[in-house]
Amino acid sequence: LRANFVYLKNDKEEVKGLILVVQDITEHEKLDTMRKEFVANVSHELKTPITTIKSYTETLLDGAMDDKEICGSFLSVIDKESDRMARLVSDLLQLSRMDHKKNNFNSSRFDIDNLIKDIVNKLDISFKEKNHIIKIGLCDKNIIINGDKDRIEQVIQNILSNAIKYTPDNGVVSINIKEEDEQAVISIKDNGIGIPKKDVSRIFERFYRVDKARSRDMGGTGLGLSIAKHIIEQHGGDISVESEVGKGTEFKIKLPVDKSVDI
Ligand code: ADP
Repeated sequence: LRANFVYLKNDKEEVKGLILVVQDITEHEKLDTMRKEFVANVSHELKTPITTIKSYTETLLDGAMDDKEICGSFLSVIDKESDRMARLVSDLLQLSRMDHKKNNFNSSRFDIDNLIKDIVNKLDISFKEKNHIIKIGLCDKNIIINGDKDRIEQVIQNILSNAIKYTPDNGVVSINIKEEDEQAVISIKDNGIGIPKKDVSRIFERFYRVDKARSRDMGGTGLGLSIAKHIIEQHGGDISVESEVGKGTEFKIKLPVDKSVDI
């Protein structure tokens, strides 16, 4: 608490009263700390790829360019790091738009089953690369959602990509959809590395990662789940996670079903 007071005096400078202003500054300080942490995180996240790009470029210019093999492998590192930086900046822009409440959702009615089939097709190469089995359990009736299809696709794709990334080769990833209490419930489950108990409640925070080095190595920005949570909540839905280390992780996304006329 912060207290300020002012004496009220009459013409003869005699004290006749006192005004006391008591301010609760905890919230203000909390926001200030969060802002400072965020700026420190962003700077650090950008500094890492910039340092890598700079040192690889310098080594190439210093003569490594003459060796075709080294040249190729260095350029692919530079390419990967530039991609990560581009992803980071685009995630940051999306967060900034969200913070300013400029969601610009482009809503329409769509069938969630079809969307899931499309996303799984798009990720087919990633599944094959790690030799994962993907199991899809769709609902026998159409489940219609009214929302921004691209943004919902972004969320499901992000969670499925995480399931692929954080599951060692030859894993099993399943995606199931059902309707429950007028909600579409999408479950994405893997049998991967899992998330320690102490971290589970924090993984939706910006830049929070269980293993920073591992996430960076796999091209992650640490912002995906915080963006996902925001998008789902803005659609009147909910996102939750259950996990056990060494056994796997299950994300559940709930979205209100549109019960107006069928398409
Ligand atoms: P990142 O870009 O690091 O993947 P996310 O916001 O998407 O960022 O996820 C935050 C963190 O949550 C990840 O770094 C990882 O530690 C953890 N995580 C997310 N999904 C999974 C999963 N399916 N299995 C294990 N850990 C996960």
